[in-house]
Amino acid sequence: MTWQDSKLTRRDFIKVLGAAPASLALDVAPGGRRYAKLMDTFKCIGCRRCMSACKRWNKLPPYEVPESLVRDMDGTTYTVVNFIRSKRNTEVGKFIHWACQHCIKPACAGVCPVTAIKKNHVTGAVVVDETKCIGCRYCYQACPFKVPRFDFGKRVTRKCHLCFDRIPKLKPACVAACPVEALDYGYRDLILRKARQKAQVVRGYVMGEYEAGGTDMITILPAPPEELGLIVAPKKVVNEDIDKLRISSTGFLAGAALVGLMYLYSRGDKE
Ligand code: SF4
Ligand code: SF4
Ligand code: SF4
Repeated sequence: MTWQDSKLTRRDFIKVLGAAPASLALDVAPGGRRYAKLMDTFKCIGCRRCMSACKRWNKLPPYEVPESLVRDMDGTTYTVVNFIRSKRNTEVGKFIHWACQHCIKPACAGVCPVTAIKKNHVTGAVVVDETKCIGCRYCYQACPFKVPRFDFGKRVTRKCHLCFDRIPKLKPACVAACPVEALDYGYRDLILRKARQKAQVVRGYVMGEYEAGGTDMITILPAPPEELGLIVAPKKVVNEDIDKLRISSTGFLAGAALVGLMYLYSRGDKE
């Protein structure tokens, strides 16, 4: 979905993407509160209604079930549900709803050469502005969770945007569709407290508290990600500005030429 597809005006879109400058500087929402999404693998029943709701809300084509058991995101599939099993104790298995983790300091936004990706520090949403994206895929390289996907039809990078065009007034479409409340969306401090309490009771693991320096997607797992075959993100902010520096210092001209070429390429089908 682009901002043009939503019911927002360009001015609204810019407002939605950017929190107040003061709060951006502090990386906290006004009043110290920010929102986050919760995923509880202990509640999930694997019904995949969240996947369908995401497709519907974003007017995306239906999901083509792959031959392999593992489902992967693509340019028109922003979330998938997979069964994960512990490598240490194969009796421990759960369904996981997987999408962009909405990092508090998103590496994808840090490396984007045309600043097409913005983080809203109140709602938590990290959103790609498809009208600016040139499809260079630096964001995929930088993402510690390897989330952004290239849409070969539109020639832009796409991913879960946390339903930025309906939150926080309405919960994200996937959250609203979940029949067993395995998904939730609310104040991050409350979400985190709930996740820690649950993890203590079930001897689980809270992902998103420290991964990539903290994310606005919190997942209660049955074990740490490395034991479940999930991508293991470092527990620190990932190359937020380093790659930007690399791009600018190790070949500004080459970079500019590449950006220009990618821009022309990306416009090919958009005209
Ligand atoms: S998970 Fe990846 S795509 Fe999502 S906000 Fe973090 S760095 Fe960006
Ligand atoms: S938050 Fe919205 S865009 Fe993201 S997975 Fe859920 S329904 Fe899809
Ligand atoms: S809708 Fe809820 S229960 Fe169903 S797969 Fe998604 S997260 Fe799990």
